[in-house]
Amino acid sequence: MSDCLFCKIIAGEIPSTKVFENDKILAFKDINPQAPVHILIIPKEHYESVNALDEDSAPIVAEIMLVAKRLADEFHLSNGYRIITNIGDDGCQSVKHLHFHLLGGTKLSERMA
Ligand code: 5GP
Ligand code: ZN
Repeated sequence: MSDCLFCKIIAGEIPSTKVFENDKILAFKDINPQAPVHILIIPKEHYESVNALDEDSAPIVAEIMLVAKRLADEFHLSNGYRIITNIGDDGCQSVKHLHFHLLGGTKLSERMA
């Protein structure tokens, strides 16, 4: 989508610190990290959120989980980490391109909301 921030990052129109890339998935450092390790993992295809997935597209989430696991290993998160995806206004989703936050490198809050 031409007016989507993350599509522009995928296209290289906006710079990012990439930490993983293949034909379907890109991962890069969050510009405003909430933890010592804060990586965003996104599909290269534009989906607004989990709500836009269907049976055909949902397998990308499994692939993203495996990228998250690989990155957690690379970034030495052997003590644990968290994966979050925000959906819609109540979920405080600010960028309307499906993305998963990989957070770690410290003891994270027990609070979920
Ligand atoms: P959301 O609130 O939609 O779940 O998460 C969006 C995330 O994108 C936020 O954590 C925010 O810091 C990050 N973000 C927003 N703009 C940029 C940007 O231009 N570059 C990078 N690397 N991250 C961004
Ligand atoms: Zn997009």
